[in-house]
Amino acid sequence: MNTPLAKLAKFLRLEADRGYDNRAVLGGLDRMVEPWREEALAAGVTSATVEAVAARLRDYSSLSPHSRQEALEDVWRLLEETDPDVGQTASPSASPPAIAHRPTGHHEALSGTPGAASEEHAEVAPGADLESQDDDGELETAIASTEPPTGKAPALSAPLTTVPGIGPKSASTLAKLGLRTLEDLLWYLPRRYEDYSQLKTIHRLWYGEVVTVIGTVESIEMRPIRGGRMKLIECIVSDGTGSLRVTWFNQPWLVNQLRPGTAVALSGLVDQYLGRLTMSSPEWEPLERQQLHTNRIVPIYGLTAGVTARWLRRVVDSVVGRLAQRVPDPLPEAMRAELDLPALGDALQQVHFPDSWERLRTAQARLAFDEMLLLQLAVMQLKHEWTALTTEPLAVGDDWVAAFNAHLPYALTAAQNQALADVRHDLGTGRPMNRLLQGDVGSGKTVIAAAAMGMTASSGAQAALLAPTSILADQHLASLRTLLSGGGLLPEGSIRLLIGATPAAEKEEIRRGLLSGDIRIVVGTHALLEEPVAFARLRLAVIDEQHRFGVEQRAALRAKGANPHLLVMTATPIPRSLALTVFGDLDLTLLDEMPAGRIPIETRLLRPAERSRAYRFVTAQLEAGRQAFVIYPLVEGSENVEAKAAVDEHRRLQDEVFPSYRVGLLHGRLRPDEKDEAMAQFRRGELHVLVSTSVVEVGVDVPNATVMLIEGANRFGLAQLHQFRGRVGRGPHASYCLLVPETDDERENERLQAMESTNDGFRLAEMDLEQRGPGDFLGTRQAGFAELRLARLTDIHLIEQARREAARLLELDPKLARPEHAALARSLQEFASARKGEIS
Ligand code: ADP
Ligand code: MG
Repeated sequence: MNTPLAKLAKFLRLEADRGYDNRAVLGGLDRMVEPWREEALAAGVTSATVEAVAARLRDYSSLSPHSRQEALEDVWRLLEETDPDVGQTASPSASPPAIAHRPTGHHEALSGTPGAASEEHAEVAPGADLESQDDDGELETAIASTEPPTGKAPALSAPLTTVPGIGPKSASTLAKLGLRTLEDLLWYLPRRYEDYSQLKTIHRLWYGEVVTVIGTVESIEMRPIRGGRMKLIECIVSDGTGSLRVTWFNQPWLVNQLRPGTAVALSGLVDQYLGRLTMSSPEWEPLERQQLHTNRIVPIYGLTAGVTARWLRRVVDSVVGRLAQRVPDPLPEAMRAELDLPALGDALQQVHFPDSWERLRTAQARLAFDEMLLLQLAVMQLKHEWTALTTEPLAVGDDWVAAFNAHLPYALTAAQNQALADVRHDLGTGRPMNRLLQGDVGSGKTVIAAAAMGMTASSGAQAALLAPTSILADQHLASLRTLLSGGGLLPEGSIRLLIGATPAAEKEEIRRGLLSGDIRIVVGTHALLEEPVAFARLRLAVIDEQHRFGVEQRAALRAKGANPHLLVMTATPIPRSLALTVFGDLDLTLLDEMPAGRIPIETRLLRPAERSRAYRFVTAQLEAGRQAFVIYPLVEGSENVEAKAAVDEHRRLQDEVFPSYRVGLLHGRLRPDEKDEAMAQFRRGELHVLVSTSVVEVGVDVPNATVMLIEGANRFGLAQLHQFRGRVGRGPHASYCLLVPETDDERENERLQAMESTNDGFRLAEMDLEQRGPGDFLGTRQAGFAELRLARLTDIHLIEQARREAARLLELDPKLARPEHAALARSLQEFASARKGEIS
C-alpha cells in the first residue's frame, strides 16, 4: 500500500488500534502531516483533499482521545471519497481488530506464500561487496538528484549502466540474470510475493503470523556464537505497547545501521524463543525511507551471487518508477476500457510493487492478456497471408475415390472419411491447403496421407512425404505401395524412397524422375531436403510426426513447389485450445475414432518391488513368440550418462534376465544408421527384446511386439507414456503396457494410475497439461511457447478471449495500420521476431 492515501490510511488504522495515543507515528501524528502533504500533492492527489486532511490533523497532539477519534474518522471519510481502494482496509472506527490473517489459499493462487523468505537470505553471502550493496541509500539519492521527474527518460533499450548507482561491475552481475537494458529490468517480474502488508502493534502479535511492526531500536548488540564461527545480532525494538527481541545472523553492518533510537519497520514471521515473541532475520528498513522491503506486499525476485534482494528491489523500483508510465501501451484505449484492464504503466508498477493482492491480480491479468493477444494476432496474420495465396486447383473425381476405397483392406472409420473429404475439398479450392491432421497413435493417419498423395498424383501432379527416420520412411513406402499400387491406381515405380542410405546411382535416377515428372510420389527423410532435389510439379507436401521437424524444414519442402498444399500429421494429442493457438494458422482435422476391432492395450502399474513379476510376464510373452520393448528414462545429466545407464541395463537384462533371448539396444549416442539397424532387426524379429531410452522411434509399427515395459515411469508425462504405449497393440495379439515407477510415492503413482484407467490420448494430454504445463509435449519446435511471461496456455478462457479480440481487431484493421493501433503493431512486430521459428 504505497499510494500516499493508502499509506496514511494505514497509519490511521494503527493509531486507532493503539487507542489514539498519538504514538503510531514517531513524535506524533502531526509530524507526518507536512511531509505527507508534499508527497500527496506530488503524487497528484487533489489539493482540496490534501489540504482538508492536513488541516484536520495539524493539531492532533493537542486533542483529547475522543476528539482524536473524531478527527481520524473525518479524515478517513475524506480518504474513502477520494480513493475507494482505501476503504478496503478496515476503517479506524471498526471494532477491535480481529487477528486478521489472510487465508493461505489466497496467497497460493498468486504464488506468494507467506513466511518463506529464507531463500534469498540463503543466497546472499555476507561480504564487503554486499555490505556496500546493502547500503542502498546512495542509490536512491543518486537517482533522486539526477532524475528530475519532468526530465526526459532514457530509451528503454539503454544499458543498465545508465541507472545511477549501477556501474559496469553491477551491470555484468545483472547480465547473469539476463538483464542488460532498462526494458529487461522493467520486465523482470517477481517470482513471487511476500505479504508484509499487515501492520500490527507489538502487544497484538501472534506467534506464527507474518506481519510488519513499527518501532524504535532500544538496544542492539553483536556477539559471536558457535565458537566464533557466526555472529548473532540481537536487537530490542519497542513501540510503546511492548518490546520485541529481533535477531539476525552474520550481518555485522546492522549494528551501525540500527543504532538505538532509530525508527524502523520490521517485516517477517513472528516466532517465539523461551516463551517470548521474537522475529528472526526479518526484513527491515528505516521508517523515514520509502518502504520497499517492509510494510507492504514485497516482490521476491530471482537472484544470483552478488545481487542482494534489497539492492535489486531498489534498482527495480527506481527503473519502474521512472519508466513504467512511459512505456507505450499497445492496447487500444477502447479495447482496454471494454475489457476493464488497467493501463500498461499501472500494471507494470503493480506487478512489481503491488498495493494490494487485488490490484496485483488485475495487473497480472492485463499483462497475460497482452501476451496472448499478440500470440493470437501473430498466428492469425500468418493464416491470413497463407489464405491470400493461390495454387492450381486439383479436381478429383468420385470414381477415383471409389476405386481407392474399393481396394482398401478395411473400411474407413467415419473420422477417416471426414478427413478424406476435408482433404479432397482443400485440393480443389485453388488455395493451398494448410491442414493439421491430428489423431492418436494408431488412429490411421497414414491412409489419409496415402489418399491425399494418390489424388494429387492421379491429377498428374507430384507429392512428397517427409518422415523423421528412415525406418518410418521405409514403412510408409510399403504402405503407399500397398494402398495405391496394390489397387492399380499407380505403378509401383512411380512411388520411390529417398533416404541418406539410398545408393548414389539410385539417388541420381530418382532426381531425374522427379525432374521429369515420371516419379509421382517420393517418400523420404531429411535427405529429401538436403539433396539437390527438384520437382517438375510438386503440388502436395506431407509431413509425418510434425513435432520432429522445424518450421524451416516445412518451409524448405514447400519451397520445392509453387505454393503446394501442405498436410501435417501429428500423433501428439494437443487439446483443442492449445492447438488453435500453437497451430492457429493451420486448419484442423481430428481423427477422434479408432479403427474397429482393436484389442485395447491392458496397462498395469506395478510397484518397484514387483519388477521380477514384470520380467516373468515378459518372458512368458517371449515364449509365446512375441516381442517386447523395455524403456529407460532419460537420466539427468549428459547423453553419455544416459547412454551408459542404458548400456549397463542392457547387459544386465541380456545376461541375467533374458539369457536365452536376443536383447537389442537403442540410445541417443548411437549413429543414425546404428539406430536404424537396431530397429530393423527388431522389426524382422531377429531381436526379441529392445532396450531403449526415450529415443525409440515414434510411429513405428511392429505388430508382433506385445509388451511395453517402462522403467522409471514416474519420470515421464502421461502423454509421452501414451506414445510409448502406442508402439504395441498394433497386431492381432493382446498387448500390455507395464509401468514400473522408481518409488512407492503415493501421489506420483496416483498420477500414473490414469494410464490404467484410460487409453484416450487426448484425455491424458489434457491431464498432462493440467499437471505439467505445455512444455512437455509440444516438442522442441514449440518449446518457446512455454516461455510466455504470464499467460498460460492452459488458460482456455484467456485464449478464447484473446482470440475473439484479435479476430475483431484484424477484421477492423487487417494490417493494424490505423494510428490508434500503431503501438500494438510495433509490439506485434517485436513479439513475432523474438519468437520467429516457434509460430508455425
Ligand atoms: P497412425 O495414425 O498412428 O499413423 P497408422 O496409419 O500407422 O496409424 O495405422 C495404424 C494401423 O491401423 C495400421 O496397421 C493400419 O493399417 C490400420 N488401420 C488404419 N485404418 C484402419 C481402419 N479404418 N480399419 C482397420 N485398420 C486400420
Ligand atoms: Mg503414423
